[in-house]
Amino acid sequence: MVQLFDLFKAKFGTDITSIADTNYLEEPRGHYVANPMPLMRPKTTQQVSDIICFCNIKNVGVVPFAGGTGLVGGQIMKSDLPIILLSVERMQAVRNIWPDENVITVEAGAILENVQKAADEVDRLFPLALASQGSCRIGGNLATNAGGVQVLRYGNARDLCLGIEAVLPDGSIFNGLKRLRKDNTGYDIRHLLIGSEGTLGIITAACLKLFPKPHETVTGLLTVADPSAGVKLLSDLQSKLDGSVTAFELIHKQSYNFMKETLPHIRIPYQVLPEWSILIEVSGGKNSDLKNRLMMALEASMETELVLDALIAQSQTQAQEFWRLRENIPEANRLIGSISSHDISLPISLIPKFIEEMPPLLAELGDLRINCFGHLGDGNLHYNVYPPQGKTRDDFEAIRTKIKCIVHDKTHAFDGSVSAEHGIGRLKVDDLEKYGDPTKLMAMQAIKYALDQNGIMNPGAVLKKKD
Ligand SMILES: Cc1cc2nc3c(=O)[nH]c(=O)nc-3n(C[C@H](O)[C@H](O)[C@H](O)COP(=O)(O)OP(=O)(O)OC[C@H]3O[C@@H](n4cnc5c(N)ncnc54)[C@H](O)[C@@H]3O)c2cc1C
Repeated sequence: MVQLFDLFKAKFGTDITSIADTNYLEEPRGHYVANPMPLMRPKTTQQVSDIICFCNIKNVGVVPFAGGTGLVGGQIMKSDLPIILLSVERMQAVRNIWPDENVITVEAGAILENVQKAADEVDRLFPLALASQGSCRIGGNLATNAGGVQVLRYGNARDLCLGIEAVLPDGSIFNGLKRLRKDNTGYDIRHLLIGSEGTLGIITAACLKLFPKPHETVTGLLTVADPSAGVKLLSDLQSKLDGSVTAFELIHKQSYNFMKETLPHIRIPYQVLPEWSILIEVSGGKNSDLKNRLMMALEASMETELVLDALIAQSQTQAQEFWRLRENIPEANRLIGSISSHDISLPISLIPKFIEEMPPLLAELGDLRINCFGHLGDGNLHYNVYPPQGKTRDDFEAIRTKIKCIVHDKTHAFDGSVSAEHGIGRLKVDDLEKYGDPTKLMAMQAIKYALDQNGIMNPGAVLKKKD
């Protein structure tokens, strides 16, 4: 490592070369920890290009790093091979903003929350929204094709990106920063790079879509009898409210129980915890009269017992309180410590059957706690399995893989995906091999090694490293 550091220091100087400390070497859930390695923090696209070109010549692996909040170990590599970490954190500029065109161009190191603020300052909305938005960066969001809580209305990171600038594995700069909404000029390199998790190049900047800011936003917490009622309710409300449902988040009682156990300062607005609840947000333009229309729709749903109870936020503070519940589920889960977590997606109408059929299968492995929550409107469940109270996940190490197989086999049988929004990283490489379409995998290998002949970009992430 010292020799490699000296090599990069001699070539690029100490301004951009240092040694990665623990902030860069461990992912949020602590599943992946890397050895110390040289850390490169370039300030310009040209510097990124120079570094990648040098790595390609010297056969040094490059692990791209943005905010470090990825949950599948894509940004963390433990290896004795020569590797460096390349962080885009110093490339944070808003390069340009065109409010009339609803476009913003930002560098890859811009923190997601700052992009939202920059849009807000010109009375526009950048709708990508994740609980990690104070730390994750646009480069990482695009590299993982992040989802979040507003996909239902605005799409995921891929849908929000008009153009990309990137450095390819030989060091060449791809200038695809056009802010066009129509551009049918052959293969779309932008879409190859989005979701490629750093295996095809380093994203250095992006042109992103903005939207008019909604004038009215209504937030509610609804009690439903079961997930099936939730699915019917979503379809019903989408029709009655002209597609203005922005978020539709399913929450199981276990989420509230975990919060009570680990984050007691968070206020939960229920005396008796509902088995299933939905956090709903609807938003619309001037004169949309959304609050009244939502209330009327909910009253009708209560008559048919699709909704059992409804709390509608009466102030911005109360809306934030409802959202705080949803946003703290991952933190409460982390404090409990899952044996195995799964970020899956399913055809929406099959979700109730999936949720019904899973617990008996897992019960065969022992007394386990399940927390199932997620973006119901996107068919995306976070289906996580925990030890019983008083035990830790280490006590269940022996059955971790079995749990994952049961969840993923069922997901696959239901024509779902074993990675809805977090990506493959290093965690799910075997799952991609097991469940992925063989022709797709062959095409992915061909693309990877056509662009990255030496396999330097994020070795071992997404695809197994070629011998
Ligand atoms: C509390 C919490 C909540 C979360 N909620 C959500 C959620 O709702 N939806 C969701 O989708 N995700 C969620 N995540 C996961 C994570 O925040 C996202 O995957 C995010 O997009 C990662 O961005 P990052 O900047 O942290 O990237 P990093 O973690 O730094 O990197 C992620 C991957 O992208 C690659 N990469 C990073 N930068 C670049 C670049 N410039 N060019 C090429 N490749 C690059 C890395 O090598 C790695 O493979 C959550 C995470 C946490 C901790």
